[in-house]
Amino acid sequence: KPSRKRMSLTTQITIALVAGAVVGSLLNTVADIGWVTDHVIEGILSLVADGFVRLLQMLVVPLVVFSLITGVAGIGDIKLLGRVGGKAFALYVGTTALAITTAILLALLIGPGRGFDMSGVDTSGMEGAATDETFWQTLASIIPGNPIAAFAEGDMLQIIFYVIIVGIAALMLGERSEGFLRACEYMNELMMKVVTIVMMFAPIGVFALLARAFAREGYDLFVPLASYVVTLVGALFFHLFVTILVLFWLFTRLSPMMFLRKMRAVQLFAFSTASSNATIPVTMRAVNQRMGVDRGVASFTVPFGATINMDGTAIMQGVATVFIANVYGIDLGLGGYLTVIGMAVLASIGTAGVPGVGLIMLTMVLNQVGLPVEGIAIIIGVDRLMDMIRTAVNVTGDAMVSTAVAKSEGEMDVEVFNDPAAGEFDV
Ligand code: ASP
Repeated sequence: KPSRKRMSLTTQITIALVAGAVVGSLLNTVADIGWVTDHVIEGILSLVADGFVRLLQMLVVPLVVFSLITGVAGIGDIKLLGRVGGKAFALYVGTTALAITTAILLALLIGPGRGFDMSGVDTSGMEGAATDETFWQTLASIIPGNPIAAFAEGDMLQIIFYVIIVGIAALMLGERSEGFLRACEYMNELMMKVVTIVMMFAPIGVFALLARAFAREGYDLFVPLASYVVTLVGALFFHLFVTILVLFWLFTRLSPMMFLRKMRAVQLFAFSTASSNATIPVTMRAVNQRMGVDRGVASFTVPFGATINMDGTAIMQGVATVFIANVYGIDLGLGGYLTVIGMAVLASIGTAGVPGVGLIMLTMVLNQVGLPVEGIAIIIGVDRLMDMIRTAVNVTGDAMVSTAVAKSEGEMDVEVFNDPAAGEFDV
């Protein structure tokens, strides 16, 4: 029997991440050799990276559906369900507003973008990038006209809406639902096993994602944008390590260090994939099995948060707005910044949890306060790395709110939370 303990999956992923960044940086220096780009960066690395993200996406819809049905039936109390939903929504919106407010204050203090030289920036093709769906249209579109289409599209809000109603209906049918719920219970277990299988590929997938990202970007893009990058990363880290941890402690009175420790794998996934959505299976598993949040609560709050709660994205939009205003020498004034806060909260609700959408939604914010949308062209070059970091912040916010809601409703098993080994991946 081997006496050496096997490396935990989180450690393996961490190593893969660092190795990927190193290999990617090296590849970047030889990226102008045609076959390196064609066959390595955009070839084998892309195959593994895209393949892994697709494996994660493959998990999302069935996992959310079956765990949500069993979760709703398990909670068994429609009033409690309403309270969980209301609290989660209020906290998601509140934390996002807090995130962007601190981000704007920090950006105003540091003042990134003053004296920036625009001459090297190509802004062509940027003018028409704005989205035109209004808030009210978005609100109505939560109801799926066709649930099958919602499943096929992976539209999370529509799926949540529909599945909760079906879960409530199953409750109302009482005994007659027993067989159905047992089948869903089994399907949920089956899907969790599928998650375990996919996780076996996590280290290699993360390696390829990081190697490709660093091979594509290189560092030279960052130099002229240093003031933007430093301010943004500072604001993101402040939110991650101060605001979220303080809120976590205030709401749960549990150890923020344990929370961080149990979030590490989730953050690594979010960072590698730049997608809250693709990370849902990992977040849900961590919140439920590692932190002891009741499955009924977690299966609702996590996908809900991954869809509407984007603290990191709002922070990026706040810093980007100040940066662009400074570059163009425009003073937004207090009213302007209040508008930015309101718009960024709405934009964060409307942003899908997939790579790069936050930047597209920024057009909405810029339009609203009369800043030139072409300003986005300045920051687009560094956005992938910023997207990776902000997505890690986004999912941490989702988990914090999930635990806060669960704890306040007595739906959290504190013993599981306090056990460092609870729910460790064993693959
Ligand atoms: N990539 C982010 C997420 O999935 C959204 C964004 O800011 O683009 O959470």
